[in-house]
Amino acid sequence: MIELHLAHGYLLHSFLSPHSNKREDEYGGPLENRMRFPMEVLKELAKMCANADVAFTIRISADEYLEDGLKFEEVLKICQEAVNAGAQAISLTAGSYDSVAYTIQPMFIEQGFLVPYSKKIKEILDVPVIVAGRLNDADLMERIIETEEADMLAIGRGLISDEELVVKMKHKDYDQIRYCVACNQGCIDNVFQGKGITCLVNARAGFEAERNITEAEEKKRVVVVGAGPAGLEAARVAKLSGHDVTVIEKSKDQRGKFDILAAPPEKDSFLLYKDYLSTQMAQLGVDIVEETISSAADLEKYRPDKVIIATGASQTVPPIVGVNMGHVVLAEDVLDGAQVGENVAIVGGGLVGTETAKFLAEAGKKVTIIEMADAIGKDVGPTFVGHMFEFLAEHNVAQKTNAKVLEIKEDRVLLENEEIVVDNVVIAAGYQANNELLEEMKKAFPDVSTVGDVNLPRRIIDATEEGFLTAVSI
Ligand code: SF4
Repeated sequence: MIELHLAHGYLLHSFLSPHSNKREDEYGGPLENRMRFPMEVLKELAKMCANADVAFTIRISADEYLEDGLKFEEVLKICQEAVNAGAQAISLTAGSYDSVAYTIQPMFIEQGFLVPYSKKIKEILDVPVIVAGRLNDADLMERIIETEEADMLAIGRGLISDEELVVKMKHKDYDQIRYCVACNQGCIDNVFQGKGITCLVNARAGFEAERNITEAEEKKRVVVVGAGPAGLEAARVAKLSGHDVTVIEKSKDQRGKFDILAAPPEKDSFLLYKDYLSTQMAQLGVDIVEETISSAADLEKYRPDKVIIATGASQTVPPIVGVNMGHVVLAEDVLDGAQVGENVAIVGGGLVGTETAKFLAEAGKKVTIIEMADAIGKDVGPTFVGHMFEFLAEHNVAQKTNAKVLEIKEDRVLLENEEIVVDNVVIAAGYQANNELLEEMKKAFPDVSTVGDVNLPRRIIDATEEGFLTAVSI
């Protein structure tokens, strides 16, 4: 099959789009002119495919999601022309370079958002229609096909996160599916940086040849301290390798950090990973024990051959005058349900600060972000950052950049040149590793490893990878 790419801002799409095509000759202006070059290519290709008896299809953005971009009404006409010229199927996608979030959709884009378009095309044209776009729910995927809203589905990231997605669906092993969480951290964010593809939920992605889970020659008693993503991934892989695995977690809710992570608006897709790991723990028979480990002696009763420390990281509190007052709270506590008043200043405008700002702004609070650097959101991924700024602007979140907090008072925050009236101050100023027990553990047990944020506070993708790699090497 040959598919002609008429989407995503590539050459032919850039001719079709009034957003990018500013020509004043016969290749620019009305649709008929904008279509001229793509249709010239398409007709030649259709002829060649027909002669060679090769199926010929097109891929096109259903909508460019730009004010002056290519809209569905015109796309419908292009599809009609393409079918008349020999296209045997239409594959629908969305967006272009200036609306890349619709091309590789982060979690704030609704699942199956292109299905109404495929349905419409199917009503009008008599060729198979393929649809893409955040299809990461088995129920949704099956419904689209059963209700004939599309004939086929195009899935990319869902197969990076779980290469057995289709097989698992075929066997109805739905709770075994490791769904893509639409974070873009390992896939498109890496591509934008010229790196290879990896995956937040699948440490094997991109390393399929060298990273494999095999039966361990010597079965060991493995004790994992901490049930965040790094610890649970280590436990999953160690158990699959045949070891006897116990996970010890102090929190009553075994995977509390996941809930904090999923609390801000449009971030609940992270819970798919939590659900996957929880289900795996139950199905594989990993023991999960609730206990606070305060010393190496607390672990002795488990008689571990191997200890994996996955105790994560905690928020740091910057040394600001007044930071210990009662109305100063940590961002994680706010995301976990701590109540704040109407006027809130957030100290720190990185990922955690901006996510907390979204969370509070959505709840109707008047929020000001205070950031020492010259911009907020510097660690927010490229497919998320535009939407983040839009969200903050829509919710009137104030931003003070190049701003240093001199003092926190009961009802205000003092900056170098101004004061901000507050009911509460929220701290989002970085993390430090929870590694207090590390040296003691290393002295007490012969084989101790560390995984995730306890090594260095970073992203979940790093936690997953370290959990996997540590466990396969036991
Ligand atoms: S890195 Fe994130 S978005 Fe990319 S495939 Fe994996 S889970 Fe999906």
